[in-house]
Amino acid sequence: MHIHTVGVVGAGTMGNGIAQACAVSGIEVVMIDIAQGAVDKGLATVAKSLERLLAKEKITEADKAAALARIKGSTRYEDLQSAQLVIEAATENHELKNKILGQLDALLAPEVIIATNTSSISITQLAAATGRADRFVGMHFFNPVPMMALVEIIRGLQTSDATHDAVKALAERLGKTPITVKNAPGFVVNRILVPMINEAFFVLAEGLATPEDIDAGMKLGCNQPIGPLALADMVGLDVCLAVMEVYLKEFGDSKYRPCPLLKEYVAAGRLGRKSGQGVYRY
Ligand code: NAD
Repeated sequence: MHIHTVGVVGAGTMGNGIAQACAVSGIEVVMIDIAQGAVDKGLATVAKSLERLLAKEKITEADKAAALARIKGSTRYEDLQSAQLVIEAATENHELKNKILGQLDALLAPEVIIATNTSSISITQLAAATGRADRFVGMHFFNPVPMMALVEIIRGLQTSDATHDAVKALAERLGKTPITVKNAPGFVVNRILVPMINEAFFVLAEGLATPEDIDAGMKLGCNQPIGPLALADMVGLDVCLAVMEVYLKEFGDSKYRPCPLLKEYVAAGRLGRKSGQGVYRY
């Protein structure tokens, strides 16, 4: 099936990034959100992002205008009916996503593929909210979507080969590198990344080195662009803790126990950059 139009549900951080990535690749987009204000904010974010690319001479004025013209913003779910693929990128809440997916399933033609950008909810479970588990798949983009090259394509238990191949081809059309992953908590990247951050907290808690030296070690010794503790401050310590708690519960393996120091920081309200202090002070 040729994908000519992509529907995006949610015009927030990820939704407007996905819309932009599609539009600059020549794909028509319908981006919806619950309120017109949210749609307008998403469209304005895309316009600003394209403006920055223009200033850096990565795109031309004509490219910018054409990309913007390809994105139709709306608050009406019915407007998604022109899409061959709808990517759900709404707020991370299982109940809300189940509701949205049920609504999409009732609205869209049977051959339309539904994808979700969830970071933490089981693709197989979300697929069950639709009557088309074979045409349901995870497409996990990374933030900021226009800059980040990776898309994890997550196969639920019943995702068909045709569905997998169609969204893989779409990710390639967007200039991304897709990797295929079976459904499991954290998929591949976060499954490795967040326990690494947790381990950095154990190293810190044991007093083996200062935060600066731990981060310098991982930057210089592993060629990471940012150290794990500085990264934790960016992601949010509360988010890192919540992810570890999910892994501990889902895998039932004590190797995922959250570091007590991470818990202490979160309890103290030291959540990272967003609260002004995490491991470091901002
Ligand atoms: P966000 O809060 O920036 O945006 C979510 C948007 O969904 C909001 O604009 C909200 O109004 C909208 N929304 C809520 N209910 C809706 C409904 N019923 N219909 C339509 N729109 C609705 O969140 P985000 O960071 O863009 O995250 C979106 C999804 O992407 C989540 O599942 C998240 O786990 C995932 N994700 C986020 C990141 C990240 O770094 N932010 C990375 C990868 C994946």
